[in-house]
Amino acid sequence: MPTIKQITAHLESIAPTSYQESYDNAGLITGDPAWEAKAAVICLDATEEVIDEAISLGCNMVIAHHPIVFRGLKKLNGKNYVERAVIKAIKNDVAIYAIHTNLDNVYHRGVNSKIAETLALENTRILAPKKLAKKLNAYIPAAAVNGLLTALPKAGATNVNYSSENQVFIDKNETIHEGKKLEVTFAAGLQPLIVSLVKQHAPDAYLEVQQLENTCADIGSGLIGDLPEAMEEKGFLQNLKKVMKTGCVRHTRLLGKPVKTVAVCGGAGSFLLPHALRQKADVFVSGDFKYHEFFDADGQLVIADIGHFESEQFTIELLGEIISGKFPTFALHFTKTTTNPVNYL
Ligand SMILES: [Zn+2]
Repeated sequence: MPTIKQITAHLESIAPTSYQESYDNAGLITGDPAWEAKAAVICLDATEEVIDEAISLGCNMVIAHHPIVFRGLKKLNGKNYVERAVIKAIKNDVAIYAIHTNLDNVYHRGVNSKIAETLALENTRILAPKKLAKKLNAYIPAAAVNGLLTALPKAGATNVNYSSENQVFIDKNETIHEGKKLEVTFAAGLQPLIVSLVKQHAPDAYLEVQQLENTCADIGSGLIGDLPEAMEEKGFLQNLKKVMKTGCVRHTRLLGKPVKTVAVCGGAGSFLLPHALRQKADVFVSGDFKYHEFFDADGQLVIADIGHFESEQFTIELLGEIISGKFPTFALHFTKTTTNPVNYL
């Protein structure tokens, strides 16, 4: 049986918590990382009903997209749905884990790649890449070079270079360091792994890590890509409604142009509209657009609001695929509780 920690560590190898937005609260919300995980329920929202479902299925873990505790709790007396869910989880030894904007922000196996896959988009790329690249400089002995040249790219580092000659470096304490200068670029979330690899191969090496200004193509918000073949707008929207299993598509006025380039963002994506416009998307598929925000399409693209829950619903399957790929015998249940608070008549 894996521990809670082993499962969360695997999820975070795909979507490190360091990729989450500053306002977010992804991670282990209740429970003990050292517990053995008996079985888990996967959901978008860890509501009290979902905790009950987990208990009745003999699960001691609930893996959710949205953190049920988001703004912090000041009291814990069960007066609202958040407190009741947390109290129930704690009383019944259920771990609640949330993987939220960190999963939104990854290119590979993220919330938006799942939407892009459902819409059969090709040539996909991050719509708004993040400035998350870091660079490590180290002065290492020649004997450590070969090992690191193999290990660092395997760990996900890009641009691994080293100097052919020894170089001398004087740090701010005026200590002199000498060795081959190793330079490595990597996504910020990989920093602990990259630093530990360098220390493992060159325990006495001097190293420093700096933030780079350039963006990281694999991390950021939203996704943009192309349909295999251009579609007429109405046909695109009808297909969108069907494949994204939504009861309602709220959209701006059709423009009479074919749809080829499509931007997507699971959840509330209106903040990405300027990026979708700049990158000449024909349609922007997302959720939670407000009345005035629809005006911002301004005759340049079609906004298609398919609903927040609906846009993220396949995240449940995605998490299932990620976990069962690593722990094939671990029992996973997709919640049968519909936690979408929005209903259509
Ligand atoms: Zn969401």
